Amino acid sequence: MAATPPLVTRFAPSPTGLLHLGHAHSALQGWRRAREAGGRFLLRLEDIDPGRCRPDFADAILEDLAWLGLDWDGEVRVQSRHLPEYRAALDALAARGLLYPCFCTRADIAREVAASAAAPHLAAVGPDGPLYPGTCRRLSEDERAARIARGEAHALRLDMARAVSSVPPLSFEEEGQGRLRCDPARFGDAVLARKDAPASYHLCVTHDDALQGVTLVTRGEDLKPATDLHRLLQALMGWPEPAYAHHGLLTDAAGRRLAKRDRAATLRDLRAAGRSPAEVRALAGVPD
Ligand code: GLU
Repeated sequence: MAATPPLVTRFAPSPTGLLHLGHAHSALQGWRRAREAGGRFLLRLEDIDPGRCRPDFADAILEDLAWLGLDWDGEVRVQSRHLPEYRAALDALAARGLLYPCFCTRADIAREVAASAAAPHLAAVGPDGPLYPGTCRRLSEDERAARIARGEAHALRLDMARAVSSVPPLSFEEEGQGRLRCDPARFGDAVLARKDAPASYHLCVTHDDALQGVTLVTRGEDLKPATDLHRLLQALMGWPEPAYAHHGLLTDAAGRRLAKRDRAATLRDLRAAGRSPAEVRALAGVPD
């Protein structure tokens, strides 16, 4: 009988603010699953967006998690230190004709959507916002080359129709729900490298889960739709497929999802107010 591979989970926050109880809930889920199974729990800082991420938040995240009583295996992976690896993945997709440069600004896209849809309010919206109308997909190779040579800023978009047609129908294993069918096309031509960031969340998270051997992705259910796109990238790149366990999101007394704006719920503030790590673990919905 083949041995079951060890469970590898991870917590992958973006250092765009202080951790709140919702993050603690998520981190504790992954940590507990790994520890109960004698597996590995990894920590990754997804700091690929230079406009939103800050080193002081990164330091605070590590400190808060340690205070909460979490330990992690191996070194913390810091995405901004691995840009050439993401570049190599982008190059591999580009070499297969699956990416194209997009020079559009947000305003260009909004104008195009408004002009092309008979009823703009019916314009398709995907999990990451309005679907890209495909303007730059239709540019000739010569025009692309000329605009890049002129130094025009551009993003890199996935040619979704081409990507989807080059892989078999996809699904993923959601714990407790079995196999769920994927519909990555609902993202349209997703951005995989932004004008202002060398690679997108979708590319980096999928790359790193594969590289680090993550076998179970535990994360909030707000990211469940993204799994369709992540499975597509895994299939295109030949990366292994982890299982997924999307958990419910913590809400405040009014039933609103906890967010970074709710300062009262940061681990820092709870700690300053005299709460113990055990109390905060219980507040985060994962009691000892
Ligand atoms: N870095 C993402 C965030 O902070 C989470 C990534 C993931 O768990 O897939 O929301």
